[in-house]
Amino acid sequence: MRPHLLALSLTLALGLAGPAFAQSGATPPTQPALTALTKDSGTPMPAEQKRVHFDHAELHIAVHPDTQSIDGKATLSFSALAPTDVLLLDLDRNLPVSAVGVDGKALPAGAWSNPDGRLRIQLPHAVAKGGKVSATITYGGKPHVAKKAPWDGGFVWSHTKDGQPWVGSAVEGEGCDLFWPCVDQPDGKPDLLDLYVTVPKPLVAPGNGVFVGVTEQGDTRTYHWRAKHPTTYAVSINVGPYRELKGEYRSRYGNTIPLYYWYLPGEEAQARALFAEFPRMLDFFEAKIGPYPWGDEKMGVVETPYEGMEHQTINAYGNHYAKDGNGFDWLLQHEFSHEWFGNQMTNANWDDMWLHEGFATLMQPLYARHLNGDAAYYAWLNRLRMMIANRHPVVSGQPRTEEAVYDDSRGGPGQDIYNKGALMLQTLHHLIGDQAFYDSIRELVYGRPDPKPGNFVPQYRSTADYMRIVNRVTGKDYDWFFKVYLYQAALPKLDAQRHGDTLDLRWEAPAKLPFPMPVDVQVDDAVHTVPMTDGHGSLAVPAGALVTIDPHSVLLRDEPRITEFQQWMQQQRRERKAAKP
Ligand SMILES: [Zn+2]
Repeated sequence: MRPHLLALSLTLALGLAGPAFAQSGATPPTQPALTALTKDSGTPMPAEQKRVHFDHAELHIAVHPDTQSIDGKATLSFSALAPTDVLLLDLDRNLPVSAVGVDGKALPAGAWSNPDGRLRIQLPHAVAKGGKVSATITYGGKPHVAKKAPWDGGFVWSHTKDGQPWVGSAVEGEGCDLFWPCVDQPDGKPDLLDLYVTVPKPLVAPGNGVFVGVTEQGDTRTYHWRAKHPTTYAVSINVGPYRELKGEYRSRYGNTIPLYYWYLPGEEAQARALFAEFPRMLDFFEAKIGPYPWGDEKMGVVETPYEGMEHQTINAYGNHYAKDGNGFDWLLQHEFSHEWFGNQMTNANWDDMWLHEGFATLMQPLYARHLNGDAAYYAWLNRLRMMIANRHPVVSGQPRTEEAVYDDSRGGPGQDIYNKGALMLQTLHHLIGDQAFYDSIRELVYGRPDPKPGNFVPQYRSTADYMRIVNRVTGKDYDWFFKVYLYQAALPKLDAQRHGDTLDLRWEAPAKLPFPMPVDVQVDDAVHTVPMTDGHGSLAVPAGALVTIDPHSVLLRDEPRITEFQQWMQQQRRERKAAKP
């Protein structure tokens, strides 16, 4: 997720400011730098890493809040897709490895190395294609501390108001390798995760997936969680003196989904109010998109000492129960939407990250309209529109790392994956109609038109996949639409000229690309649709008639009123900065 600018802009737009988004916790201590490999997620995958399929991750992680350190032991099992005599894993070198075993036998020191964040394990014997191999890695130390989670990720060592440890991990940007040996790629998910988290009593450690059990050893206890197909960065550590709210949701698909919320003591009333939102959010998504993907595990939410993150079945929530007049918690709804757009359907490469954030950002205005009607919907979209930058294309067509997507100084789309992604989808929704729009989403998310609990598996998807799906569902070729909105930086511009009794309309798309987008025009009380074949069209307009172009606000396009506003805002910021002593 990392909704920083969105959150900030919403805050500013609402005239709020202050501590609601401030991070709890102390200034992080000086810590060793991360290597380039560790700092980023989705760097080019070496051939050796592609030779194996990740079957199972068994993670034992002891969390020591007093020393801000962890002890880890990971048993990772793979199937060989091609013969291999080496295992390559990603792990922060600042968590030194003390022992490695392969298939239960300890390796001599020197059989592994981790100079730069890529742990190389020389296998004692080659594994043939189709063969299995498992490695047990013992490691530990002080995991990277987040400077400002979730935007700058790592561990957050915080305290509750009454001084008890409150710990969380958020590693979307940097990846899973900040605290466990993994394959730090969007498609690096293991088929199955067993997560054992050991914490000092009486702390609680909610985790991903199903609660298997808890065991006690002296002053500590170990929680065991099991999750299928966990998104790599969505495996998370959560530790605190949590209280638990628990319920059940009877799905429209016939299954019953367990609901859990872990919150801090002293917030019972607010926690209950948030928990009461879970069923209606679920119902909205199940009605509009399809079955909750993890219905046989749980819908889980945990209160975190940072704003939020789409941790699979254990969504991080740190919005301080803020109210914004919409009648629902937008941050929870955003994070929860990632269970469909991010966890069930995962971008094949980070270059396609708008598939997570564009859809996830559209879900808040759609939900606001469902609850409160059109004004809430359009107000939300208008706010998103003001934030679109159009500096770089949303999709580059080349493999990219997560940080490169977020960093617009490196040519990435930055926040446009949220705001432009969402508004581009609103335009598409209008263009292809309700049925085709939601059919295309179901195909994208589930890989089938008729998802029901138990008949689908997680999907890795690219932008090209979605274009293909839209074309198939509609029976038309909409490549022109995506080529302009996703692969060009600038928005298409609509030139409108009145000559006598005629209104002439002409699309000017970047790179002179074809853009046959129909345009609605209101002439006095009547709305006409101009087909715009070949990108231009005209309409008879009596002299003196009042004309509104795009009266229902469905066309994402270059508009001078917005550019002027954005430039004015930038100027204000510069002046404020210059005026500071
Ligand atoms: Zn998000």
